[in-house]
Amino acid sequence: MTAPTLIACHDCDLLQRETALPAGGAACCGRCGAVLYRRMPESLDRTLAFTLAAGVLFLLANAFPLVGLEVQGQRNATDLLGAVCALWDQDMRMVAGLVFLTTVLSPAIEISGMIYLLLPLRLGRLPPGAGRMLRFLQAVKPWGMVEVFMLGVLVSLVKLAHLASIVPGIALWSFGGLILLLAASAASFNPHEVWARVRL
Ligand SMILES: [Zn+2]
Repeated sequence: MTAPTLIACHDCDLLQRETALPAGGAACCGRCGAVLYRRMPESLDRTLAFTLAAGVLFLLANAFPLVGLEVQGQRNATDLLGAVCALWDQDMRMVAGLVFLTTVLSPAIEISGMIYLLLPLRLGRLPPGAGRMLRFLQAVKPWGMVEVFMLGVLVSLVKLAHLASIVPGIALWSFGGLILLLAASAASFNPHEVWARVRL
């Protein structure tokens, strides 16, 4: 007979025994009522599908021009890394570093880390260091701010609209889709299911 698994409430730290739940059910803390964990059938498969699609859009967002500006017949286009380099060259190194960290590095780590975790689980294997990877991803996640960057780009484009013709690039549309897919992936991800397999 195996020992019952204990789980601590995130809100009040009360230790409680885990019990099996029906599909779609949620376990609540006996003292404060906070949700301890849920059982969401096929949540990891859905998360993997959203993450793989997000990976494709992330590659497109970095490979194609973000936006093109047309002034007096002259057309200028830039991609994301080009924008980071331009900020760096204009002595805005802190901003360039932040844009690179929040828009390129952090989403890249998040997407590749999730694929590293979920693809082997889908194939019935536990990837090495799954627990450490899950903790690492939870620490990296707050640094992914693609939507803040997108908002900044849209505000700049509106301000520039009367000075030049704006041609939205493939990367801009990809960023829009990427924001939705990352949100869908985060909403469908149930880390409890990964922890349950790590403990097996
Ligand atoms: Zn509690």
